[in-house]
Amino acid sequence: MAARRDLTALPKGHLHVHLEAAMRPETLAELASRMRIEIPPVTGFSGFTAFAGMYEGLLAVLAEPANLHRLIDEAVEDAAADGVVYVEFGVSPQFYVTAFGSIEAALDAQIEAARAAGARHGVEVGLMVTADRTRDLADAVELARIAASRAGRGVVSLGLANEERGHPAADFADAFRIAREAGLQSAPHAGELVGPESVWQAIDDLGADRVLHGIRAVEDARLVAVLAERGICLDVCPTSNLLLGVVDDLAIHPLPQLLAAGVRCSINADDPILFGPGIAQEYLVARERVGLTDEQLAECAWSSIEATLASDGLKRRARAGIDAWLAEGDAA
Ligand SMILES: [Zn+2]
Repeated sequence: MAARRDLTALPKGHLHVHLEAAMRPETLAELASRMRIEIPPVTGFSGFTAFAGMYEGLLAVLAEPANLHRLIDEAVEDAAADGVVYVEFGVSPQFYVTAFGSIEAALDAQIEAARAAGARHGVEVGLMVTADRTRDLADAVELARIAASRAGRGVVSLGLANEERGHPAADFADAFRIAREAGLQSAPHAGELVGPESVWQAIDDLGADRVLHGIRAVEDARLVAVLAERGICLDVCPTSNLLLGVVDDLAIHPLPQLLAAGVRCSINADDPILFGPGIAQEYLVARERVGLTDEQLAECAWSSIEATLASDGLKRRARAGIDAWLAEGDAA
């Protein structure tokens, strides 16, 4: 009975999704063909070499500003169709300096496109400016300053992504301090390819409000207790974890264990064009393969709203919508 609830009707946030990877496969194919850019066949996950090639193709087609607008508009439209009421795109304006002239100009174009798409499709959109942990602290500090100057004007958080191994979060404390002082959330990737020590650094050194992935926290009971106690949300991506070998089998994914320990978790798609599922599909994966109940799915949906800087009005409407979604299943 309960399993018949429509997951696209569950109001949710999508907090861990890298903007370029939210492009529709058919849009990438169309733009690449028009611009005569070679991309590997877009047929789902086929290893990192294909991923790197596809990502370069994504960046190449986005060198035309009109295409960036199209990407953001379609990504928000797809989010709305999946029941997303709040989306936080991970953006890297530093990739678009050639196309836009400066990091600031690229970010302002992303902010404007996000605002327009959000208004058109009825979704609140925030941007997570994402520093590259394989680059210098100075680059991250520059990005943090630019992000901080747009706090409350489209930018909501500072992220940290790319190779976790050998690039510890603690090195970026100065950048995250700037972001937090401006009222941005701290939302680094950690605890995906490196264990609990990486998550400890995210919370101790970067003051993480949310940790993207974070699932390897499960290896340290004291860390799990601290995450629960402080209400730090883990933005979890089951399909990504499976395809990257972070977990061997979705049936033993740590998400249920983290929820049972009282850790707030959201469910996310990470890189849909690479891994396949969109956000509603990822909820279905969480239900059918990870084994979450509808009550747990609703709990994750609420965390994906409540743990963010989404507006109070949106939070109230989402809470009511989630309660209605649960009640509908009870009555069926
Ligand atoms: Zn990610």
